Parts: sequence; structure tokens; C-alpha cells
Amino acid sequence: MLGWLRNKKRRDLMAAPFPQQWQTILENRVWLYHMLTPEEQQRLRADMAVFIAEKSWEGCGGLEMTDEVKLVVSAHACMLTLNIENNRYYPNVESILVYPTGYTSIARTVRPGGFIEEVPSARIGEAWHAGPIVLSWEDVLAGSLGHSGANNVTLHEFAHKLDMLSGGADGVPELDSDAAYTTWAEVMSHHYQVLLIHIHHHGHTVLNPYAATNPAEFFAVATETYFMRPHHLLEAMPELYTVLSAYYRYTGWGAQNASHGAGV
Ligand SMILES: [Zn+2]
Repeated sequence: MLGWLRNKKRRDLMAAPFPQQWQTILENRVWLYHMLTPEEQQRLRADMAVFIAEKSWEGCGGLEMTDEVKLVVSAHACMLTLNIENNRYYPNVESILVYPTGYTSIARTVRPGGFIEEVPSARIGEAWHAGPIVLSWEDVLAGSLGHSGANNVTLHEFAHKLDMLSGGADGVPELDSDAAYTTWAEVMSHHYQVLLIHIHHHGHTVLNPYAATNPAEFFAVATETYFMRPHHLLEAMPELYTVLSAYYRYTGWGAQNASHGAGV
């Protein structure tokens, strides 16, 4: 019954007209929106209407929560899942907390003897297991406008949430076949190793070196590059590009956007 009610509510939200002010914000603030086909844009707007209505939005550190913040964040969240039917609307995300700029989080580490060490650490985004997404609006907007190269903190944190949907954050999201898991493991570990070697030799990498932190960060950073610089990824790491295309189910994403150098 609850499922039926929820589905009806979702259908109503998706069918409602998308406000013109929202459309204007999307067009002016979300660079990736222009990379989608009209059919994809239409589905994205419908998904966003549901996502915005179902999540709890909280401004922190003095940030006033506005439609603009909700639209920019939800556009990226919903782009990732536009073609992944099972994970649409992120069942493991209840709330989204947004700070005006980078913020400080306390990292707690248990030391030998039970001593708890608390170290302040600067953050621009976090995805908590069984908890919220936390974002810095300044960095969200820079990524959305294409002002921070291939970096896009919103795509990054929501990719972590997709990863977590299949259990721990281990760099392997839910895939649809044993063969897909095998290919994923082969391609991801190969490119992870290649990245470590490149970094060791101070070579240029198409992926932000932060990807070398661990497999979960590798997936999150590779996702950012896949969406923000698809043609670069396609040229430099075609197998990785293909595996991500199979997961996100965008056809011709890199070729479709090869001519777009904007946002660099
Ligand atoms: Zn991360």
C-alpha cells in the first residue's frame, strides 16, 4: 500500500509542469544539462521533481536553502541514475546538508589503548554511510558551471552513494551480471595500478590523482571524469570509459560531447 501511494505521488510529481524559473536555473547553472539530448533532459527534469520533493534539504553554516541549491545538486544526482532504473532516487540518501563553502569536519581515530584522536579536516563534500550527503555550495557551483576542470564534487559524493548501495564503499556498485562484475574487477584494478605507476613517475593522468587513494575514490573520481571529460577518458582509457558507459548506460556519451570544450 505504501509502495502504491509512493508510486502514485511520484507519477504526479513527474507529470506536473516543471516551473519556468527552475528551467532557467538549470540552463544557466548546470553545464552538463546542455550535454543531454532533449529526451534525456525531459526525463532528468521529471526525476529531479521527485528527488527534490522526497529528500530533506538543510542549509548549514549560514547557507540559506534555495531552489537554486536544490536544483543544481539534484541535477547531478539524477544525471548519474538517469538510466539506472533500480537506483533512481537513491534509497540510501535521506538528507542533503549544504554549507556555503568548504567546512571543517572532525575525523575521529581510535588509537592504541582506546585513546580517541580528533583531527579537524577540511572538506568540500562527504557521503556518510547510512547518513547524509554533505556539500560545499561554492564547490558544487564551480563544478556545475564547469569552472573546476574535470572535478565535480556533487557527482563524486553521489557516486559514493551508488557504491554504498551494494554494501560497503569498495568501488564496486551494483552490477547486473556475473560477467559485468568480472569485467569491472579486471578493468578497474588494471587502471588503478596504471594510475599508481603514473603518479609514482610524476606522469600526467587524465584522472585526478586523488583517485589513487583507494578503489572507492577511484570509482568516484572516474565518474567525475566520465561525465565532465568523457572524450578525454575515451581517448586515454577506452576500457574504463566502456565499463562506466555500461554501468551508467549512456550511449555515445563521449562521442556526443567530443566537440564540447566549454567549461574547461
Ligand atoms: Zn570521495
